[in-house]
Parts: sequence; structure tokens; C-alpha cells
Amino acid sequence: MNFDVVVIGSGPGGYICAIRCAQLGLKVAIIERYKSLGGTCLNVGCIPSKAWLDSSEKFFELNHTFKDHGITSDAIKLDFKKMSSRVQDVVKQTSSGVDYLMKKNKITVFSGHGSFVDANTVKVEGEKTETMTAKNIVIATGSKPSTLPGVTIDKERIITSTEALKLPELPKRLVVIGGGVIGLEMSSVFSRLGSVVTVVEYASNIIPTMDLSLGSELMKVMKKEGVKFLCDHAVKSVVRNKNTVKVVADDKASGKPIEIEADYCLVAVGRRPFTDKLNLASAKVEMDERGRIKTNDHLQTNIAHIYAIGDVVKGAMLAHKAEEEGVVVAELIAGQKPHINYNLIPGVVYTWPEVAGVGQTEEQLKAAGIAFKSGSYPFKALGRARASNENYGFVKVLAHKETDEVLGIHMIGPRCADIIGEAVLAMEYRASAEDIARTSHAHPTYSEALKEAALAATGNRALNI
Ligand code: FAD
Repeated sequence: MNFDVVVIGSGPGGYICAIRCAQLGLKVAIIERYKSLGGTCLNVGCIPSKAWLDSSEKFFELNHTFKDHGITSDAIKLDFKKMSSRVQDVVKQTSSGVDYLMKKNKITVFSGHGSFVDANTVKVEGEKTETMTAKNIVIATGSKPSTLPGVTIDKERIITSTEALKLPELPKRLVVIGGGVIGLEMSSVFSRLGSVVTVVEYASNIIPTMDLSLGSELMKVMKKEGVKFLCDHAVKSVVRNKNTVKVVADDKASGKPIEIEADYCLVAVGRRPFTDKLNLASAKVEMDERGRIKTNDHLQTNIAHIYAIGDVVKGAMLAHKAEEEGVVVAELIAGQKPHINYNLIPGVVYTWPEVAGVGQTEEQLKAAGIAFKSGSYPFKALGRARASNENYGFVKVLAHKETDEVLGIHMIGPRCADIIGEAVLAMEYRASAEDIARTSHAHPTYSEALKEAALAATGNRALNI
């Protein structure tokens, strides 16, 4: 068998790359070792986590906030198994959507583990072993959860997000190691459902890679909802004792250890690129010191016709980043000249309030010595937010002091995961804060907070405050 392009891995990077290749008239095959297509994102990542977040949010609202709207019920029950099976149904539907897309685009799907025989030949070991040659090969093998020294994942009580999304029961007490996106989303799910959740974070702030103001605001809200936070703590060990776990963490300032007992410990300290048994050496493909596949600006490895995209290469581990790279590689193979602006890949946390940011943070601008102005606007001042009792959060617009070009937009509040799209588009077109401030926004909407923040950034002109 001979193909123009063979893609190894069917996550959002791989399957989108395969579709774009097919659209461009290339003969494409995709190889997937997991039982269903869609990668981490569809099977054990973005989609199931958002389904859990949605269900748990409904449960939380019914228990805590519906009464403010005059809605009460005496018999609220949680059917954890039903909730979990709905999540799995969503996963199945979404993955079969990818099967459909592969058929529609006439992409040949191989089920099994792919590995290099040489730089133009790939072997698939599944129910049978098959070999194929390709003019171009795209490595899109994604990532797997990583852990800490001294912490062994047993997948039962000491777990990663993969197991947390399929737990057989609701933990009474849960320790989450890591206050990043995945740790906080899962903390939010379990805390809303009734677990006592403690987040242990090594840094001084949660979501420390985003604008720091966002983590502070999110922590305030999550604390109010009952989540406990131990920042500046270094986890030393996690020990399982039958049905409980004991987490020991040192206070970084005093060196004093603290012990927390729980039913489960979720380790959410990041992910590592996954290249196991890919046999990269046979194709002479190089990796960097962090185990990522080395690529140039065109996502080519050191072997020009072998590309790599998504979590397995440098950059943010995000599905939409992987997708953009998939499209770019397909278009490069087809002879086009596409481009990605990595500064404009938005980051989102799907807690409630949602958190989102794009461009440079205030801390990054300060460190780079760039003169900027800042305008913020709180959601609680918006009529739309008041109508739905959304009292938390703000939008912050950072613009260049002289040129007024928007350099970063950061927000926490209702529907920020959607509002950030407008911010990305504005920055893609190199908008000034004035451009956003002069754009008509439908009233009443949450997106008016972005306009007001842009007004605030341009001469303190916010109108509704
Ligand atoms: P993956 O999705 O990891 O796919 C790689 C695929 O390759 C896998 O299916 C794997 O089985 C297959 N594979 C690996 N090796 C081989 C081989 N040798 N042969 C054949 N197949 C192979 N990102 C967001 O943007 N938004 C979110 O809300 C979000 N939420 C997340 C929540 C959780 C709990 C987790 C864990 C992740 C989340 N992410 C989110 C991150 C997102 O899932 C990843 O960034 C994205 O899936 C990366 O895509 P990818 O195509 O690079 O790799």
C-alpha cells in the first residue's frame, strides 16, 4: 500500500490533518492504536471533562443557586452512575462522528500501533500486521499524563485525569495535585457534586501560566464553593492504604510537612509527549531534551518529509493548537504557504466562572519592558450578568501605550470561553483597543464587558460603571 500522507494518531491534530489532506486531493491513511478515534481530546480529555463539568454545574445550581430564582425542590438526588454513563454516551457519539468524517473524506483507517520501519515505511500492528509506504508522514501521537518523583499512579486510588473521568463512585474526599487547568476543572466537577476537595499546588498561584489576576479571582470563587487550596506546597509522597491515600506535602517557606488523608488522589501535574514504541530511530527522527519531537517553523522534523504536530511537539498542549498545526501541515504538503500565530492561541479553563486569555499577560509585558495601558471591567456591572446572578469576574484589555494595539485580553466570568473568540479575532486583525471600543455589541450580552474594558483601556471611558 502506498499513500501520499500517513498520519500516526487520530487526536484533534491527526484527524484534522487527515481531513485537510483529503480535501486537498491527497491519498491519506490514518493509524490509531486506541479502540476509538479522536485521541485524548475526544476520549479522555476535552469532551468527557466538559460533559462532567456541564452535569456537575447543573447539579450545583439546582442545589445552591436555583433558589435565588425562586426554584426549589425537596428531592434532589445524584445518580452518579447515570451521570457517568451520559458522559460515556457523549464520548461515543463524538468519536463515531470522527469515524463518519473519515469515511466521508475517503481516508483509510488502520487500527493498531503504528511504528517506523524506515523514513518512508510505517508498520501497523493490530489484529493483523500491515505495512505501508508514504511520501509524507505526520506524527500526531499526542501525550500521556506525567507524575512526580515519589508518586506512583496505581490507576485505582492514585489516579490521573483518565481514571478520574470514569470513577466508579463519587469520592468523599479528593486531593488534587496541581492547580493547572486539568486539576482545577476536575476539582470543580467533584466539589460541585459534593466531594471535599483539596488542591495542592507547588507555585504561589493557581493557573500560574495565565495572567495572575485570573487565578486570584478563580481561587476566591472556588474557595467560596468549598474547595481548599494549599499553594506553595511541594508534594513529597502519596501512599495508598487499602481504600485511602495519604498525601504528604512540604510547606515551601517553612519546610514543615502537612499530611492529608483522602479516598482518592488525582495527580494533575502535566502531560508528557507520547512516542513509546514509535521506533523513531529507524527513521532517524530526533527528539529534544524534554522528549518532544524536534520540529522547525514548518513543523518538519529533521527528516524533511516527516512532520510532527500537537502535544508531541513544543508549545501549548491544547486541542485547538493541535488542529491548527494539522491544517498547516496538510497545506504545506500540498504546496501552500500557511502560517500560525502562536501568540494568538487562546487558553481556556472551563470552570464556572470560565477563565480565558489570549496574547501577552500583564506579567509578560512588564518583564519585557513593553509600555502598556490596561482597562478592566467587572461583570457585576453588566445588566446581562445581573439578570443571571453572575457576580464574579472581569475582562482586562492590555494595549500598547503609544499605538493602542491590543497586546493581550484576559477574562474570567460567564461564557468567557466563547467571548475569547472575539478577542482572538480582534488581535488576529491587529485591532486597537479603540477598534473594540467602537464596535457595536448587542445589549444585553456578556460580551459587552469586553467593549467596556476596551473603553476603560482607552482613556478610562467605560460607560456603564
Ligand atoms: P492526542 O489527542 O493525545 O491524540 C494522539 C492519538 O495518537 C491517541 O489517540 C493515541 O492513542 C494515538 N497514538 C499514539 N501513539 C500511537 C501509535 N504509535 N500508533 C497509533 N496511534 C498512536 N485541550 C483543549 O484545547 N481544551 C480542553 O478543554 C481540554 N481539556 C482537556 C481535559 C483533559 C482531562 C485532558 C487530559 C486534556 C485536555 N485538553 C484540552 C488537551 C487536549 O486533549 C490535547 O491537547 C489534544 O488532545 C492533543 O491532540 P493531539 O492530536 O496532539 O494528541
